[in-house]
Amino acid sequence: MQIINSIIHMQALAIAPEREGRRIAFVPTMGYLHEGHASLLREGRKRGDVLVLSIFVNPIQFGKNEDLDSYPRDMDRDFQIAEACGVDIVFIPTAAEMYPNGFQTGVTVRDIALPLCGAIRPRHFDGVATVVTKLFNIVRPDVALFGCKDYQQLAVIRRMTVDLNMPVEIAGMPIVREADGLAMSSRNANLSPVERQSALCLFRAIKTAREQFAAGERSVAVLARETRAIIEQESAAVIDYVEFRDGLLLHEQDVVDSNTLLALAVKIGQTRLIDNTVLGEEL
Ligand code: AMP
Repeated sequence: MQIINSIIHMQALAIAPEREGRRIAFVPTMGYLHEGHASLLREGRKRGDVLVLSIFVNPIQFGKNEDLDSYPRDMDRDFQIAEACGVDIVFIPTAAEMYPNGFQTGVTVRDIALPLCGAIRPRHFDGVATVVTKLFNIVRPDVALFGCKDYQQLAVIRRMTVDLNMPVEIAGMPIVREADGLAMSSRNANLSPVERQSALCLFRAIKTAREQFAAGERSVAVLARETRAIIEQESAAVIDYVEFRDGLLLHEQDVVDSNTLLALAVKIGQTRLIDNTVLGEEL
C-alpha cells in the first residue's frame, strides 16, 4: 500500500492505470475509519483494478463554529483498516496544498443542496462539491463510492457529476449500523457513554416511522409529529431537523410514498448526528 501526500505525485500515479485501461475505484473520506467506510472499500476493491482511499478533513466544508478542530483522527488505525480492505493507494493531501494562497474557485450545486443540511450548514455542500471535484481531478476515478448515510451529499454529487459531465460512475452504498441500530459515524467517537445511549433515539424514530408507514400511515404531518416526539423524549437530544421529502429531488411532500426519504439531524450534547431511511427500502 502506497501512502501519497503530494497532489502531483497522486496525479502521476493515476495516469498509468488510465492509459493501460485499468479501472480506478475511489473512496473519499475524512478518516477515522469504521465499518461503514470499510464496506465502501470492499466494494471498491471488487469494482476497480486499483483502489484509492483519500483521507482529508476538508476545512472548507466546516462552518466557523463546527467541529473541524475536534474531528477525530487516528492515521495508524486508518492504515491498518485500509490495508485489510486491500487499498492500493492512500492519498492524504495537506490543506495547504489543496487550498493554497489565492485559491478562489468553487462548485455550487443549487436546489438539491438547499434544504436539510444545506439549510442548517450554509456553504457546506459548496465545500463538499468543490473538494470532490478537486479529488476527482487528482485521482481520476472510473467509479467513486459514497454512503447513503450522507444521503443529501450523495444526491449533490450525483447531480454535480451529471451536470458537469464528469466521466465517473457514482455508486451509493447502504448505511452500516451498529448492532443496536446506531448508524456508524466517525463522530460517534465523541459521544460519552451516556450520550451513546441517548443517540439511539435516532434509530428508534426511524424504526417507528417505518412501522407506521408499513401500517398504512401516509400523512407527513402525522408521521413528522410522532417521529419528533420520539426524539424529544430524549432529554439530551436537540433536533436540527426531522423531515420527510421526496427521495429523488428532496422536494417537500404532504403525503409519503415508498420513495419518501425520512432525514434526521439531531445534536446529542456537542455531537451532531445524521441518519435517514427511505420508507419503502430495506433497512
Ligand atoms: P466521512 O469520512 O464521514 O466523510 O465518510 C466518507 C464516506 O463514507 C461517505 O461517502 C459516507 O457517506 C460514507 N459513510 C460514512 N458512514 C457510513 C455508514 N455508517 N455506512 C455507510 N457509509 C458510510
